[in-house]
Amino acid sequence: MRPSYLIKPALDESYPEIDYGKGTYLFDKDGKKYLDAASGAVTANIGHGVPEIILAMHEQSKRVSFVYRSQFTSEAAEKLAEKLSDSLPGDLNWSFFVNSGSEATETALKIAIQYWQEKGVKSKTKILSRWVSYHGITLGALSMSGHPGRRARFVPLLEEFPTISPPYCYRCPYQKSAPDCGYLCAKELEGAIKRIGADHIAAFIAEPVIGAAGGAISPPEGYYETIKKICDDNNILFIADEVMTGFGRTGPMLAMEHWNVIPDIVALGKGMGAGYAPIAATVVSDHVMEPILKGSKVIMSGHTLSANPQSCAAALAVLQYLEDNQILNDVESKSVYLKNRLDQVKNKFSFIGDVRGKGLLLGLEFVKLPASKIPFDQSVKLTELVVKTGREHGILLYPAGAGLDGLSGDAVIIAPPLTITKREIDELIALLKTTFIEVYKTLG
Ligand code: PLP
Repeated sequence: MRPSYLIKPALDESYPEIDYGKGTYLFDKDGKKYLDAASGAVTANIGHGVPEIILAMHEQSKRVSFVYRSQFTSEAAEKLAEKLSDSLPGDLNWSFFVNSGSEATETALKIAIQYWQEKGVKSKTKILSRWVSYHGITLGALSMSGHPGRRARFVPLLEEFPTISPPYCYRCPYQKSAPDCGYLCAKELEGAIKRIGADHIAAFIAEPVIGAAGGAISPPEGYYETIKKICDDNNILFIADEVMTGFGRTGPMLAMEHWNVIPDIVALGKGMGAGYAPIAATVVSDHVMEPILKGSKVIMSGHTLSANPQSCAAALAVLQYLEDNQILNDVESKSVYLKNRLDQVKNKFSFIGDVRGKGLLLGLEFVKLPASKIPFDQSVKLTELVVKTGREHGILLYPAGAGLDGLSGDAVIIAPPLTITKREIDELIALLKTTFIEVYKTLG
């Protein structure tokens, strides 16, 4: 037999093989138990092994698992689109189903450009975005991503889309504090529009809470209202990348609801299929669809597995589960409890510089000295060390970038399933403390 290899993230590392998952926990082949404090990659929002979802997928597969979107629709896809628009604010009523968050943001990019073309404006082809952001790994999505580490190898192929500073109050580029800062980071958008010309800009895209690139950076009150007004005043669409924040991760269905901002286009993913099936969506508002419906009547995008019935059945069951068990109602109280406990941990470990985030999307940024906010030398590989030590001690954390360049700092995201109990939060905190004691020892 020829040797065969599964390509894993780090080719020189071995990964434990998972046997099964139940609720907040995963169990490997050796019987080791892991508390999933990051829902994998902020995905397993309702925990592992939920029978209702498995049953819904099984029932769908007994009828049909696949139909090609260009030939047929399916009950699962139709119902999911209907339930999504009932769950989302404003006139976000048009769902385009894809298979990953990267496809969802890239589809949003294409729809924004097509919208202007259908209105007869061909010059609006740029999508503005922020540094310290991540919108996906495919080339269009990566072009919008302010993530130098993930861009580096492909720079010649990428558009230079990221333009403005992030709302990163812990490391404010202007050394100011909100709200007295006057939202200078948001107002950079006005400067960028003047420089590039509104005639060339189709949309601005932002993650409501910056995830992988920044470690759960949540903006100050008033930030998104300022951004949306600048977009509206300049005829620029606003795309919310809610791949990580959507489906109740921060409490409401969309994180943008915290700030009463209704995006023109939304990208959803991760928690949508909650890890049970690969599914994501680009949801478009009526007013953006209008010129397309009057014009070509075709969205120029699509994938073989778009609107796959089995994936749609999974997402529909996830939505139903959230509703039946009123999961989102408890996110805020669980968030307050977890955040308070993390603040207590911060007081015990001097290398925790910041505890931040929104809902159950929280982040810890690590620094060498909290007073000066000086990060660890990158040769220490602190994030890697924390995640690895955590895994050894049975807690799963999500590594994130930090620092104004998204490279020079260290952070982890803590985003357990929304179904986590208070007792499990206490266990999470205990495991985190054990991990940090061990990290301290390693650092010497
Ligand atoms: N957008 C955001 C905000 C994300 O966090 C991610 C993934 O981490 C993506 C897009 C890309 O999603 P996917 O990995 O499913 O392609």
